Amino acid sequence: MAPKLERFVSPGKGNGLRAAARIQRGELVHSAEPLACCVSNKLSRHVCHHCFSRQETLLRCSQCKMARYCNTTCQKQAWIGHKRECKCLKNLLPRIPTDSVRLAARIIFGLLNPSQSRSEELFTLEDHESHLSSMSEQKKQGLSQLASMLELYLQQEVSDLEVTSALPPSCQEPLSLIAKVTCNCFTISDGELQEIGVGLYPSLSLLNHDCRPNCVMVFVGTKLNLRAVRDINPEEELTISYIETLSLTEDRRRQLEDQYHFTCHCQLCDSQEKDGLMLSGNESKWCPLKEALPRLEGLKAESDWPALLENCSQLLSTVGDDVPDENLYKLKMTDMAIDASIHLGHWEEALGYGEKTLPVYRQYYPDPHPVHGVQLMRVGKLQHYLEHIEDALDTFKQAFKIIKLTHGVDHPMTTDLLMKMEECRSELDQKSSSCLRIEEN
Ligand SMILES: [Zn+2]
Ligand SMILES: [Zn+2]
Ligand SMILES: [Zn+2]
Repeated sequence: MAPKLERFVSPGKGNGLRAAARIQRGELVHSAEPLACCVSNKLSRHVCHHCFSRQETLLRCSQCKMARYCNTTCQKQAWIGHKRECKCLKNLLPRIPTDSVRLAARIIFGLLNPSQSRSEELFTLEDHESHLSSMSEQKKQGLSQLASMLELYLQQEVSDLEVTSALPPSCQEPLSLIAKVTCNCFTISDGELQEIGVGLYPSLSLLNHDCRPNCVMVFVGTKLNLRAVRDINPEEELTISYIETLSLTEDRRRQLEDQYHFTCHCQLCDSQEKDGLMLSGNESKWCPLKEALPRLEGLKAESDWPALLENCSQLLSTVGDDVPDENLYKLKMTDMAIDASIHLGHWEEALGYGEKTLPVYRQYYPDPHPVHGVQLMRVGKLQHYLEHIEDALDTFKQAFKIIKLTHGVDHPMTTDLLMKMEECRSELDQKSSSCLRIEEN
């Protein structure tokens, strides 16, 4: 199959990728396995370190006590990449290095093991930007600490000479390797967009950012699939969003500057088009919601669901009542209320909040977007569980329209969604046939 993308120099942005031919909405543009990847520390107990699937019970590596696997097959296949890592992890116990340090080390282990496949067709590790020269001192200091951690982690198992021989010249300094990794790694998420790990996909690091991109990335295990969400003309630049776009222009720009070292001049940023909608309502009304958010995010991070739900529902039913649903702060709070209600098994409440968000998501995501599809699917599942079957079928159909484009028809989530729709249809059939029987009697 001819590649649908090619490297080019994007005016004002440096390297980029563009369409090599006409690409249709929903089309798979590119698929890539990572050069290196690892499961996030915070999920290391729940996700297989080889295939990245979520499992209730996992086998634990008896040596490092950290790596976990679905079964012995996954464990055996992972061993070639885990062998050196295992010893390093064991040496450092009880400390566990951060995700970016483990990822950087895995890149080195991979390069030391020439039998492993490479995925650097369009772009190499050497080509990656470290942005060290434009970085603030404070950020550089943070990275230096990670670099020292990397050296300590590798110390017993990998000699300096080996590192030097494996890595291209510009990556041999631990600091520059860490800087390249943190600027260029992708978060690997599951079909429902929950973060499960980090990975480096060199060719796709060439993709530039746009706050309203024409492509999205969805993962299957560790494989990254890039799909078009709009029709794309030959030679048109391909873009993704590096960040969650549901925020104000000022906040998006700040985040992109801090994390990725550039100022976004996409159409959405230059026009500030959605900001008015995000700030809709009277400021004196939504201000208390805005001010409460950091505290509520803290409760969410601590998984304190009872306190989170109580706070959200109290604010939403008082001040929140006078704020339009489109308001960004109200939307964020409503989303947190859904999370908390689901964790506490308050299904009716979760559904009430969920249904409120759907018309708003539709406005903020005019193109097919995984976040929108997943939200529809969550609400559909609640409707189905609470036996609002007709509503559920309708919501699942809307989700399907998006998910089949963003995730593709073969993705496990799409299959799951088709099954849910089938269940709804057969339940509705049963209901109508039992109504007919009652009428006949
Ligand atoms: Zn597995
Ligand atoms: Zn191990
Ligand atoms: Zn932008």
